[in-house]
Amino acid sequence: MTAFWTEPDFDEHEHVQLVHDRKSGLTAIIALHSTHLGPGAGGTRFWHYPEPKDAIRDALRLSRGMSYKNAMAGLPMGGGKAVILADAKGTKTPDMLEAFGDAVNGLGGRYVTAEDVGISVEDMVAVSQRTDFVSGLPVSGEDAAGGNPGPFTAMGIFHGIKAAVKYKLGKDSVSGVHVAIQGTGSVGGGVARLLAHEGAKLTLSDIHEDRAKALASELGGEFAAPDAVMSVSCDVFSPNALGAILDDEGIARLDTPIVAGGANNQLARQGHGDILARRGILYAPDYVINAGGIISVAMEYLCKRHGDPCDINEVRKRIALIPGRLEEIWQESDASGVSPDVVADRMAQKLIGR
Ligand code: NAD
Repeated sequence: MTAFWTEPDFDEHEHVQLVHDRKSGLTAIIALHSTHLGPGAGGTRFWHYPEPKDAIRDALRLSRGMSYKNAMAGLPMGGGKAVILADAKGTKTPDMLEAFGDAVNGLGGRYVTAEDVGISVEDMVAVSQRTDFVSGLPVSGEDAAGGNPGPFTAMGIFHGIKAAVKYKLGKDSVSGVHVAIQGTGSVGGGVARLLAHEGAKLTLSDIHEDRAKALASELGGEFAAPDAVMSVSCDVFSPNALGAILDDEGIARLDTPIVAGGANNQLARQGHGDILARRGILYAPDYVINAGGIISVAMEYLCKRHGDPCDINEVRKRIALIPGRLEEIWQESDASGVSPDVVADRMAQKLIGR
């Protein structure tokens, strides 16, 4: 492994572990950024990285992001993340997942894992054969919290968009408000449905064009081609696909007063938050607005540890606090002239004692 502690993203991680299991062929990295507020919680990504250093960087950035996200969500959890280094064919076997479960178990509860890109609920069930330090497992009953975090993430983003519309446009409802959504998967699709229910005007886009077109037709919205969605003239642009879309070129194309969506790491680099602010665009920091999923995952885990049934209303109550946090950030940003992403980072760093 390269000298990961010299990486700019190292940021004084408490623990970084390379996991290799010869029998199953598993290679993984577990990164624990901070356990100041509790066990480091964050999902496992299964991805084919061109170079090992890309995997290390991804693990470090994502793990620090989870420290900030969990702190700002008011959860008694720290930040961690794991990446499993897939081969070019994406070979994933139960043996590998179980070996990964053994490694998570070896940390004795300092790291709690769940789903991320490339990892399904079924995969987490395989991991749970070897460790209890896992969440995002199937739940039974409509009132039980847990399982797929996507709908909870969408719920938080919906509340966050409403808060942004109120803050920037002075409107109490999204009825008639035009929202352009990039990515109509688990999160973006859920956001679109919630907005449509309240009468928003939608423009939907996805690289799986049929998916976006079908949803647009179901919800009475328009379709935009993937290379056109960032230039749509709208009230809210909601990125729910990839990260790093807010770079010089992407920001120059925007024709919106608000950016509020769930994709992780939307800003290509930190200075882009300031460029958005100077263009008069209100930005909802991604890890604050998209915390609904981790709130569900963490509540599921904590309830299980205490042997309590997890009430979905408690999860909803915590998700409903997201708009208040965003307003606090925007007010502080307006008062200080510091962009909302930097305000959020400073608040999070204070909470985790950095
Ligand atoms: P998903 O795979 O279900 O959906 C993503 C969608 O984006 C897919 O339909 C894909 O085709 C589309 N897409 C990819 N590139 C695109 C592009 N250039 N233009 C338009 N569409 C494109 O994933 P998801 O779970 O909905 O997650 C979406 C984003 O939200 C990711 O950045 C993820 O990291 C973030 N996020 C998800 C959760 C969660 O609970 N699922 C929680 C927090 C953050």
